[in-house]
Amino acid sequence: MPVDVLVIGGGFAGLAAGVALSERGCGVHLLDQKSYLGGRARSFLDPTTGSLVDNGQHIFMGCYHATIRLLSTIGTLDRVRFQERLTVHFLDRNGRLSRLECLDLPSPWHLLLGVIRSGSFTFREKLEVLRLGRSLRRQKESPDRLSVREWLCELGQSETLQRNFWDLLCIAALNEDPSIANAALFERVLRLALFTSPADSRLGIPRVGLSEVYVDAAADYIRAKGGQVECGRAVAGLLVSEGQCRGVRLSTGEQIEAESVVSAVPSFQLAALLPGEMLRREPYFAPVVFLRPAPIISINLWFDRAITDLEFAGLRGATFQWLFNKGKIFGLDENHVSLVLSGAHRYIASSKEDLLATALRELRDFFPEARKANLVHSLVIKERFATFSPTWEVEELRPTARTPVRGLYLAGDWTATGLPATIEGAVQSGYAAASAIMDDGRT
Ligand SMILES: Cc1cc2nc3c(=O)[nH]c(=O)nc-3n(C[C@H](O)[C@H](O)[C@H](O)COP(=O)(O)OP(=O)(O)OC[C@H]3O[C@@H](n4cnc5c(N)ncnc54)[C@H](O)[C@@H]3O)c2cc1C
Repeated sequence: MPVDVLVIGGGFAGLAAGVALSERGCGVHLLDQKSYLGGRARSFLDPTTGSLVDNGQHIFMGCYHATIRLLSTIGTLDRVRFQERLTVHFLDRNGRLSRLECLDLPSPWHLLLGVIRSGSFTFREKLEVLRLGRSLRRQKESPDRLSVREWLCELGQSETLQRNFWDLLCIAALNEDPSIANAALFERVLRLALFTSPADSRLGIPRVGLSEVYVDAAADYIRAKGGQVECGRAVAGLLVSEGQCRGVRLSTGEQIEAESVVSAVPSFQLAALLPGEMLRREPYFAPVVFLRPAPIISINLWFDRAITDLEFAGLRGATFQWLFNKGKIFGLDENHVSLVLSGAHRYIASSKEDLLATALRELRDFFPEARKANLVHSLVIKERFATFSPTWEVEELRPTARTPVRGLYLAGDWTATGLPATIEGAVQSGYAAASAIMDDGRT
């Protein structure tokens, strides 16, 4: 089949674009430079324990409509277990456990009454959350040029409520410190995730390794429709002449021509593919230079006994913000937990030994059982370029799918999705690129 569309990148964005185009009868050729697909959302076997390890715990949400559609199309939606209703446990350093559970009521009451009934908040904090909910319902306009911290203070959210609740949500959703993260983006996430419907508020946790959730099934889908998916094929540059993209040049020197090209690579990697002059002169491509990365650190720990029965919990006031009980989540007899430190700018240069020492100290503070447990094995994963840093300054620079170069389209979690860098943003961007190609009649 002739190549209608060449897709560069086999993460969620590229695979979503490939699936959507294949679904509509296009001949797709997808290339990834790595020996595996999945990009920043993948899993692998730990050689020491044989356990499946994600490059970092990924959480889905009921409001991930495009992602749910993608997984339904490729037949893997049942590999993500969605909660019946949003339920989150929080732990304090003294081991005190509290729970926020939404109710089966229309939005926003499902959340607001859940907050009122929860032991996670003082009476005063409950009033503050209600105030924020009321203001979200009344306010039609997004906060303009504010950080999350400034916005929450404007809405009368106390310092303790911010530290123990909003900061945990902000760092988890935006992977950035509230003092610099974009308030408009956070407000949008809150509206979509918490204030739309009980079904949208549910969390979804993969019950298999992340790659098994989508990688092979998406590649198989593209191949079954007549397309090609190849790993270990690095694109070195775009073939652009007279304002038109005609294909790509690989690092081997080989050229592949195509009617259209979708770049689904991270912003900083696109810079290397664009002709230098275009990068300098074309304002559309400016964010490729301006977006800054925000890191995530994950520590996987294997113990000789269970340290908690909880599936996951937010750790209030800790360096590592969330704990995931991988053995329990996967339904395996493994005492394997994963700790997550998002927005990890301050810690990314720390040694693995120091990070491990902090993680163990915190686990023993938060989980009394951890004091008796012996560490069997550990694995520290630093994702330096986990997401882009979502400050309000960069939001308007994020580019749409259609570029000024004919035949070239962009996808990726960093493009103009109106969402932070997430799976859902990546999938939406892949779908948007596919739609733009179809609308332009380029197949
Ligand atoms: C540790 C961690 C935890 C996260 N947690 C969550 C979470 O809980 N929920 C959530 O929704 N999101 C989460 N995210 C964000 C989510 O993983 C990303 O937003 C999403 O995976 C981005 O997908 P993408 O396809 O845009 O980019 P990528 O996954 O980066 O895919 C780009 C692909 O392009 C390939 N590529 C690059 N250059 C070339 C080239 N020259 N030639 C060929 N191929 C090339 C790369 O190898 C890569 O496979 C997390 C991210 C990390 C790192």
